Amino acid sequence: MNKAKAKARINILKDQLNEYSYNYYVLDNPLVPDSEYDRLFRELQSLEREFPELHTPDSPTERIGAAPLAAFAQVQHHKPMLSLTNAFSEEELIAFDKRIKDRLKSTQEIIYACEPKLDGLAINLLYEKGLLIRAATRGDGITGEDVTLNVKTIKSLPLKLRDNYPAILEVRGEVYMPKQSFLDLNKLAHANNEKVFANPRNAAAGSLRQLDSKITASRNLAMYCYDVGEYSGARFANSHSEVLACLKEWGFSVIPYAKPVKGIAGCMVYYKDILSKRDELAYEIDGVVYKVDNIEEQRDLGFISRAPRWAIAHKFPAQEEITVLEEVDFQVGRTGALTPVARLQPVNVAGVTVCNATLHNMDEIERKDIRIGDTVIIRRAGDVIPEVVSALLNKRPATAKRIHLPKKCPICGSHIERIEEEAIARCTGGLFCAAQRKAAIKHFASRKAMDIEGLGDKLVEQLVDTGLVNHVDDLYKLNLNQLSNLERMAEKSAQNLLEALEKSKITTLSRFLFALGIREVGESTGRVLAQHYGELELIAKASIEELQSVHDIGPVVAARITSFFAEPHNLMVIKSLRQLGIHWPKVKKESKDLLLSGQTVAITGSFTEFSREELIEKLQALGAKVSSSVSQKTSFVLAGESPGSKLDKARELNIPVKDEKYLKNLLI
Ligand code: NAD
Repeated sequence: MNKAKAKARINILKDQLNEYSYNYYVLDNPLVPDSEYDRLFRELQSLEREFPELHTPDSPTERIGAAPLAAFAQVQHHKPMLSLTNAFSEEELIAFDKRIKDRLKSTQEIIYACEPKLDGLAINLLYEKGLLIRAATRGDGITGEDVTLNVKTIKSLPLKLRDNYPAILEVRGEVYMPKQSFLDLNKLAHANNEKVFANPRNAAAGSLRQLDSKITASRNLAMYCYDVGEYSGARFANSHSEVLACLKEWGFSVIPYAKPVKGIAGCMVYYKDILSKRDELAYEIDGVVYKVDNIEEQRDLGFISRAPRWAIAHKFPAQEEITVLEEVDFQVGRTGALTPVARLQPVNVAGVTVCNATLHNMDEIERKDIRIGDTVIIRRAGDVIPEVVSALLNKRPATAKRIHLPKKCPICGSHIERIEEEAIARCTGGLFCAAQRKAAIKHFASRKAMDIEGLGDKLVEQLVDTGLVNHVDDLYKLNLNQLSNLERMAEKSAQNLLEALEKSKITTLSRFLFALGIREVGESTGRVLAQHYGELELIAKASIEELQSVHDIGPVVAARITSFFAEPHNLMVIKSLRQLGIHWPKVKKESKDLLLSGQTVAITGSFTEFSREELIEKLQALGAKVSSSVSQKTSFVLAGESPGSKLDKARELNIPVKDEKYLKNLLI
């Protein structure tokens, strides 16, 4: 690159970095991920090295943070608060170590004090005669913002020191927000339509740099200390490790996992160890810091413009990167939920090439205003699926396209429903859709549904995987030959399964309704529907309004039922099931003449002739309402063997108690 070109590029980089820094430090609202900022910063550094005559004192590479906001009182630090030089590779560390050894004219391995690099904001605490006098942000390194009242809301912070402290003492540390508190805070902000923070660092900075300390107090901030600044009196420690020990004695919460090691080889072991702990830590870290442990050596090494020569930050691979969103596909989950998946221009995030990321749901897409063609921030942390965090609006091309929910399921073509107020859209072809088939068949066969004995989850998987069963009606088309040819299936078990299938053909309307797996239609809604309508055809034709007039059925359940029966694919499967012989006795509809009409019954204990489900069915067939608790409204309690607390409650309230014999007499 020639000088003219370098100059133009340097000017662009300076403007960009200044703009990014302003948004990051002053507004606590970063525009780009740190990885992008760091890349531009290093590009500027390298151009300035190549063309030293273009290196001006106002360059972002010379500056620390940003000037304090006028809204806060300004504080001069007794000793400047510096930044750190960054290293991203082992080679850079070896060069750092060599510079140190050369300057110290040392042939011995250097002892480095290693610490995690917390991703929060640096704070300077001033103590006089052991009392906390003032707390300030780093600001531009010389002048910070007075945030004393806010810092005092941090519970772990000592307002008064213990034992043997210098009369005047500056202590440096990082205020941070634990990961969980950050998630909770954003959840609340989301619910209240307030600003959400990009990451825990910005949430910590935004929470601390508040004019109203009540707001700070409501946020769960914490602080770890890792150094001292200016202090009065004689030197109290010869090494950084001793400084940390003193901080602990004085009552501070000191940075955890701090450890002295020998040479860069020791640093590398430490780096790997902390990197492996990164995801399980309760707070975010973005690297580790190595500091020459010996304080005499630190003094000899001194400073360069914005950072000490005796320390370096070894950064972890960035968890956030930027790339382009090329397309959005919709994946259908086991329960029919549609997840929008971003197809991305491949990008390396924390050492892994990422091509796809989740967009969660339509609400998130709308809230974040993400469009196809956008440059987006991708986050990949630990084992969590990579996600699209946000779009860079200033990079949106004119051709960017809005993302629309498909009308038809991309797997089976059934229609998609998204009930108002719900974030998740779903495929309504529950009985038909290939994405949902395993879950649908397992549910259909389960005990409280069609109760097909011997058809467990493993066998369902096998039947679907071998292509023998696609939809629930295929179960009733299986023959002995097909079944006994399955791996691990003896002829006897195959025979038993066919018998169980045959037996399951005689069922009840309420069980059948439950077996269909309509969302929100559980056993009891199945019973209520069967009891009210008596016939499947009437339920299938009922409108949302009609359904809502049925006791216990609200608008969401009603909508689920109508959209299930509106889907022709589901009706096709139901028709086939009935043609294959599934049937049920006519439901005796609830009427005033029934023996237990208008009565509420509670059941306790076990019974010899009926299972709990059968009892409920019988009682309901007699017109009773079955309740799960005993109250003044209970007409009687039906008690079997080993009754529970409902019996005591009945006695306490003087409610009649009946036994199994009583019920059998009613049934004759
Ligand atoms: P830095 O964060 O790279 O390093 C210095 C800071 O590390 C200290 O001030 C202190 O706050 C912190 N720290 C954490 N643990 C420490 C420990 N154990 N010992 C000592 N210090 C510790 O430098 P910086 O100057 O604060 O910020 C520059 C960084 O901020 C960039 O690398 C970039 O990632 C980020 N940044 C991002 C944007 C953006 O738009 N995304 C803009 C500006 C800056």
